[in-house]
Amino acid sequence: MTDAHVHLERGPYTAAWAEEFVTAAKNAGITELCLLDHSYLFREFAPLYDDLRHSSDFIDRWLSRKAGKHTLDEYFRLIEDLRPRDYGITLRFGLEICFLPEQTDAIARLIERMPLDFTVGSVHFIDNFAFDHTPDLWQGVDTDRAYRRFFEHSIALAECGLFDGIAHPDSVKLFGHRPSFPLEESYDTLAAALASAGMYAEQNSGISRRTSAEAGMDPALYAAMKRHGVPIRTASDAHTPADVGAGIRYFYENHLI
Ligand SMILES: [Zn+2]
Ligand SMILES: [Zn+2]
Repeated sequence: MTDAHVHLERGPYTAAWAEEFVTAAKNAGITELCLLDHSYLFREFAPLYDDLRHSSDFIDRWLSRKAGKHTLDEYFRLIEDLRPRDYGITLRFGLEICFLPEQTDAIARLIERMPLDFTVGSVHFIDNFAFDHTPDLWQGVDTDRAYRRFFEHSIALAECGLFDGIAHPDSVKLFGHRPSFPLEESYDTLAAALASAGMYAEQNSGISRRTSAEAGMDPALYAAMKRHGVPIRTASDAHTPADVGAGIRYFYENHLI
């Protein structure tokens, strides 16, 4: 079983902290563990968020608390330290990069020559709307428009050629908002774009631990991915060792992979 998306961010970049995740993965029956962190944690990525910060006080305050805590070199040193060690598990290292449509050239420049095994792109912002933070932020938001823009961003993410995969591909649903129109066409276009880019899509259980949303993709989105031959990778989106592997057995047992 694979856990393709596990964050180290709540601890120091040390082998001892990473080993807590490795041990938890082995206990959960995971045979491939992919460690990553958010792009906004790294100082080098900070300027990419400037326009977003200027367009939203909420995002500006949130990034003031979270952003730029590490340098990429600190992360790469940890990777270098861990790579030669044999833990009896496949260990891969990557980054979860916020897809910011205006910043694709800057992202491309930053990620070339990085000693990473993979990059996964995420839509965390619908323009300047931090849709996945709290339900209050949805007050007064046009749900149909939010969905349309979310899938436009997701399709652009697939087409930009920068990422190996897409994280939590329908996380816009997390607080239970639904559009008035059917989503099949958006699902199909997204799946086709991922397939032609050779990208994978995550079955990510993360939002189901935060809200009452189902674990992983909407069944119709999953069906579209399968129809187009998009590889699926299971992911917990764990931020603590205790959550490593969470929900992954469910995906395997229910043939959702
Ligand atoms: Zn994410
Ligand atoms: Zn994540």
